[in-house]
Amino acid sequence: MAKYDYLIVGAGLYGAVFAHEMTKRGKKCLVLEKRQAPGGNIRCEEREGIHVHLYGAHIFHTNNQEVWQFVQQFAEFNQYVNSPIANFRGELYNLPFNMNTFRAMWGIRTPAEAAAKIAEQRTEIKGEPQNLEEQAISLVGRDIYEKLIQGYTEKQWGRKCRDLPAFIIRRLPVRYIYDNNYFNARYQGIPIGGYNKIIEGLLNGIEVRLGVDYNAAKDEYAGLADKIVYTGALDAYFDYKLGRLEYRGLRFETERLEQENYQGVAVMNFTAAEVPYTRIIEHKHFEFGTQPVTYITKEYPQEWQPGQEAYYPINNQRNQELYAEYAEMASREKNLLLGGRLALYKYFDMDKIVELALAAVKREIGG
Ligand code: UDP
Repeated sequence: MAKYDYLIVGAGLYGAVFAHEMTKRGKKCLVLEKRQAPGGNIRCEEREGIHVHLYGAHIFHTNNQEVWQFVQQFAEFNQYVNSPIANFRGELYNLPFNMNTFRAMWGIRTPAEAAAKIAEQRTEIKGEPQNLEEQAISLVGRDIYEKLIQGYTEKQWGRKCRDLPAFIIRRLPVRYIYDNNYFNARYQGIPIGGYNKIIEGLLNGIEVRLGVDYNAAKDEYAGLADKIVYTGALDAYFDYKLGRLEYRGLRFETERLEQENYQGVAVMNFTAAEVPYTRIIEHKHFEFGTQPVTYITKEYPQEWQPGQEAYYPINNQRNQELYAEYAEMASREKNLLLGGRLALYKYFDMDKIVELALAAVKREIGG
């Protein structure tokens, strides 16, 4: 008889939520984590009272009341609202694209004037937008496309906007009101005490083995549980039999500065093509820190090489088809469940990950 009900591969948000909920329901779970610490990419590190987001800015936001209530069990959330600033060669603009952006860009005042300006600039796009460039111009016009979108997007993805799918830019709201709240979400905030508190709460009392690469130790672990919940990269699970899935990589450079306030905002996007990083995060502003020093992180997009941390899936046709083949192989393994950004090869916000993990638990218990 297997010793565990569930072997959960990956102690990121998905794995931790799944393990927590199953343990609560009396199931025996073992969590394996390749890294030396749990938490996946929401992990932070405290330095001089500031929680440094180790894998890029994480801002929790959701419209799902169940998800919001779920995360509140582990930490109280502060009132942080994400309002990044875009910096184009020293010109500053508010994000997301809203009346403040339009006013700074064109000197206009009213929504009607902004709409007229955009309508005039969008006439160059005929028919349904076919790529990110056309989609962006059709949403906000050429001026904003050239100053705030083109350089940033091409750096982030390492390819031309004309060669990127339109849906990427539809993540961003466009508003004809003066409102710099980046997200259209009912609930938003940063956990007081840091994201690690959530991870610790989720994994409290659960057996977690760190530094274990499941794919390299399958023989030892696969038989230990009735079911496997796998949250790692799916091509790695199948030993890259059909080829490798591609990702966009990131490199983070963190500096400690002997000053209280460096840029006055948590997130500043550098939208010109010649600046090698996409953004600078000043971590203390996520939690209204008043320390005499500050920590900033520059985020550099880079080509991803096998063996490095995988960040954004590159959902082009080649990768989607390859992923579908791997997913088909996975579906033939009756004891295997897939979850999370890597295994599903899809970019998810944190709330969606919680939602999916809760739904998977319900399906398992019900079935
Ligand atoms: N984007 C942009 N300029 C910005 C911020 C975002 O053009 O200053 C575009 C870009 O194409 C990016 C997409 O919007 O890939 C989504 O941005 P988001 O900030 O949601 O990316 P994330 O923070 O999730 O990586």
